[in-house]
Amino acid sequence: MLRNDLLEEWDRENFLHPSTHLAEFARGNAPQRVIRSGSGSHIEDRDGNRLLDAFAGLYCVNVGYGRPEIAEAIAEQARELAYYHAYVGHGTEASIQLSKMILDRAPDHMSKVYFGLSGSDANETNVKLIWYYNNVLGRPEKKKIISRWRGYHGSGLMTGSLTGLELFHKAFDLPLAPVLHTEAPYYFRRADVSMSEEAFVAHCAAELEALIEREGAETIAAFWAEPMLGTGGIVPPPAGYWEAIQPILKKHDILLVADEVVTGFGRLGTMFGSEHYGLEPDLITIAKGLTSAYAPLSGSIVSEKIWKGLEQGTDAMGPIGHGWTYSAHPIGAAAGVANLELIDKLDLVTAAGETGAHFNRALAEALGDHPHVGEVRGEGMIAAVEFVEDREARAFFDPARKVGPQIAAALLERGVIARAMPQGDILGFAPPFCLTRAEAEEVADKTAAAVRAVLG
Ligand code: PMP
Repeated sequence: MLRNDLLEEWDRENFLHPSTHLAEFARGNAPQRVIRSGSGSHIEDRDGNRLLDAFAGLYCVNVGYGRPEIAEAIAEQARELAYYHAYVGHGTEASIQLSKMILDRAPDHMSKVYFGLSGSDANETNVKLIWYYNNVLGRPEKKKIISRWRGYHGSGLMTGSLTGLELFHKAFDLPLAPVLHTEAPYYFRRADVSMSEEAFVAHCAAELEALIEREGAETIAAFWAEPMLGTGGIVPPPAGYWEAIQPILKKHDILLVADEVVTGFGRLGTMFGSEHYGLEPDLITIAKGLTSAYAPLSGSIVSEKIWKGLEQGTDAMGPIGHGWTYSAHPIGAAAGVANLELIDKLDLVTAAGETGAHFNRALAEALGDHPHVGEVRGEGMIAAVEFVEDREARAFFDPARKVGPQIAAALLERGVIARAMPQGDILGFAPPFCLTRAEAEEVADKTAAAVRAVLG
């Protein structure tokens, strides 16, 4: 292990960090933290600070840090066979076993899984499979994709386009032309104060229907959505949202892609978010929780209906022209198998639901009455606190005040990591499923202290 006094300097001189103020970082004026180890819900940095990671990395270390079962499975796979590709019918024991384990857990109508490395590339694969499918079906004009403002689907060219956050568009000439955005199911921020939740759901449905009619259903291939908005604010959908949206998609023969990169494998207290909200997706995107981030691995799960199209297409055109060198990488697959086994053995999906409910209650109790807390919301082991200047009028702070980042920094000083979400003064939490009740209360109490320190 590399331990030397120059590490921080090398970091500033050589490393382009994602989602970072690059110039300030290189000048030494931005936060810098070198993480050395992790165990359970905690990580430790190079200076010896032990931090409670209430965001599980980037909501991905679902089983918690330092699990020897997964580490050993990775080591064993690396010794036995570090790599072989999955092209032209090749596989490894781990990747084949994992494909079966995923399908055993996915909704019944799902049929096959294609493996990638990241949530972004899995969404990219799903776009390509859908375009392929519509070409096979002889409707090449049906290609546009609708996603939601505030959705997050990755930061590639196409997936960054699907993402509905300005930060990911503005400086990169995105979104690309075939992507359209519709209303976010974000009642607290998007509905007028006098509007009922029911009326807001009707508004979301009407916006979608109007967009489809304006563009022509014959040009629209798919609707892309997280079962519950994640990076865009951690927002459970208002009651009745999915019941209103799905029939519109069915009526216009538009496929539904459930991006379950965050919600897949237990975060909402159910194996999939689709199960939680009654979605019937045609394709599902998975990543993060598939391996609990012990190794990079993602998947695009296709339904029987899409599979029939792929079958017909390759019968007509030969092998599909889509593949990554690292598709179904055996080390990722071995991590996935060990991770899913551990989730079952410790019943961590139930734990996420139960401890998550306790955590959500603790947050609401500690913060609900604060005059600058507009909303405490969540589901299972994911939650957010949204701050407002004026609670009655639901008036938001000037973003230049950076209230969210200030509170996240004050919380970090108290030894807890939460995430200042990228758009709005929103503090996000998505702890590992092994969080204890005492840790849940600690996070809630320290968050309240951080909020008082910044906002009084
Ligand atoms: N979809 C969702 C819902 C996500 O939250 C993320 C990542 N936060 C992605 C896709 C992209 O995944 P990755 O960063 O692994 O490319």
